[in-house]
Amino acid sequence: MAAVREGRWDCQRCGSTGLFGRDKICHGCGSPRPEGVKFYMTDDAPVITDQKVVEQAKAGADWICQYCGASNPALADKCQQCEAPKGQARTQGVKEYKGAAPKDGKETPAPAAQALAAAPTSSAPWAKYAIPLGIGAFVLFCCFAMSFVFFNTSQTTGTVESFSWERTIEVEELQTVEETGWDVPSDARVIHEEEAVRSTEQTQVGERTYVCGQRDLGNGFFEDVECTEPIYESEEVYDTQYTYEVEKWVEVETERASGNNQDPYWPEIFLTDEQREGDRAETYTVHLEDESGEDYEVNVSLGRWDDFDVGDELTLEVNGFGAAELVGEK
Ligand SMILES: [Zn+2]
Ligand SMILES: [Zn+2]
Repeated sequence: MAAVREGRWDCQRCGSTGLFGRDKICHGCGSPRPEGVKFYMTDDAPVITDQKVVEQAKAGADWICQYCGASNPALADKCQQCEAPKGQARTQGVKEYKGAAPKDGKETPAPAAQALAAAPTSSAPWAKYAIPLGIGAFVLFCCFAMSFVFFNTSQTTGTVESFSWERTIEVEELQTVEETGWDVPSDARVIHEEEAVRSTEQTQVGERTYVCGQRDLGNGFFEDVECTEPIYESEEVYDTQYTYEVEKWVEVETERASGNNQDPYWPEIFLTDEQREGDRAETYTVHLEDESGEDYEVNVSLGRWDDFDVGDELTLEVNGFGAAELVGEK
């Protein structure tokens, strides 16, 4: 059951403060509690245990007598002050506060409290953005500087001095390897199996109820607003994990051929019964020198590389890091 507490109100006419929620008349000046009065709740307001009072509090908001302006409990059908019938009387508003109810009767206390909390930065509203902005600006500056060096290319003319190339072939061998997994390949031999944690699952095991706000019942009392949230428990899911042996092609060596000429060839490979040829790779490099004696290396396709001769003059695009590219070759 949501807890009920008694609120307070202040009399705007005579200035009396801290009048009890159940009081419908000001003790200071005798004037009726007005329509739209602001109820608040002090920190020390105890939970009401008297069931009769709780029932009254939960009966509904007070109604305001159209004739004399007195506040009357929801269940009364006649004004307790002047006996006028309830009729179409308006009722006191019911409000819900997310979090705590107001702690005093001052007008618009919520924005005031917020202003107080924000006080350290309120003198400079942009201050909280200053650090992220600063970091952002720095990162942006670094990107800009890097790209400036990278894209700040200059062109130069290089003379072809020499050529080099490299060709490789991987040698693969069928080997028995040990692997672990949840499934066993059809050609594998299981050598060990055990139960192991395969995943973790979140299961909802219940719900938690907590106080997430206060409801101004419109009759001088407040009731806790309760919210619920799910409670999860993580559960480990077990499965059979296999360790097995399986035959796999494994890279065992790389045969390499290279030269400082324009006559590339593939390395010779010698395969045993258990071996096969794997991936091939090839690199063709042109070595150039510009007028100032600066050396450059450019990797190009075999087709272009073949067409160049020592002494050819090529236009190079050189970036801020000194890396060169042939113009038109990407
Ligand atoms: Zn008063
Ligand atoms: Zn009345």
